[in-house]
Amino acid sequence: MSARGPVAVPSDGLWGAAQVIGVLLTLVLVGGLATVPDTTLDILWNAVIPILPAAFLLAPSLWRNVCPLATLNMLGGGRRVLTARVATGASAIGIVLLFVLVPARRFLFNENGPALAVTILAVASLALLAGALFSAKAGFCNAICPVLPVERLYGQEPLLRVRQVRCRRCVRCTQTACIDLSARESVRQTFGARADGTGWVFTPFGIFALAFPGFVIGYFTTSDGPLSTWAAVYGHVGAWSGASLALLGAITLVGRVPALWMTRLCGVAALVLYYWFGAPGIAQVWALPGVFVVGVRATALALALVWLPRALRGARRRLPAEGARA
Ligand code: SF4
Repeated sequence: MSARGPVAVPSDGLWGAAQVIGVLLTLVLVGGLATVPDTTLDILWNAVIPILPAAFLLAPSLWRNVCPLATLNMLGGGRRVLTARVATGASAIGIVLLFVLVPARRFLFNENGPALAVTILAVASLALLAGALFSAKAGFCNAICPVLPVERLYGQEPLLRVRQVRCRRCVRCTQTACIDLSARESVRQTFGARADGTGWVFTPFGIFALAFPGFVIGYFTTSDGPLSTWAAVYGHVGAWSGASLALLGAITLVGRVPALWMTRLCGVAALVLYYWFGAPGIAQVWALPGVFVVGVRATALALALVWLPRALRGARRRLPAEGARA
């Protein structure tokens, strides 16, 4: 990985220990969701998960090196590789899963520990099975993982250089857009030839990137409710996502905004919105003072202000016209 900035280089042994601990913690999580669901849900949703978006912005490898689902995915020893064409379709499945599963927190996963435990076990089994069928990360982590689109969107210009430790030797399990080979180039490779015009807007990842800021607002402007509210939740989140897609898509098409500029703007906007809307809920759960909310929001804005200029410079360096002039 070639990001500038401090280099984080724990030994392979430490990374291996972290991977084992990650799997063990997942088992503890599943047990906790089944036996003490309220406490476990609070810890998961209001302490652990909120760290991830910032971690993706700092360096997607941080999480990808220790993610327990990735550990399971790589146990399988499968041989099939993911062609570029299939990778595009598979990543679209991951995007759909993300847009289905996250709103489901509102009417199911935020309050129903056993349902979440069963879902985690099902996804873990899927990661294992995919690993048995496909080489390395080709079947799950680089394909249908619902977190992959967010890793790709936020991880476009990592602030920290963290080497990936899972693939000692790249076997080209995925023929395009592997974040582990280059977080910076992953989005461009996802768009293929359409990255150079405005055609990227109509690709699955383009639609995801443009809709995602609205998706975040939509999620945080709904509230938890019973299962019967599912249609209203999806309607609300879908409307915000659609509005975001329409507005940002129109700006892109009219202004002919380059793909890497707009996707980076969408990513940082979604991250700031996530912490802006999410901080009060976390403070409420843990009875934290108002200064916590101010601190989280200020930190997210500061992170965005550091990241964005650097990310836009990085996007500029990668524009074909710029390259041609160089
Ligand atoms: S680094 Fe190579 S082997 Fe590892 S996930 Fe990426 S494409 Fe697959």
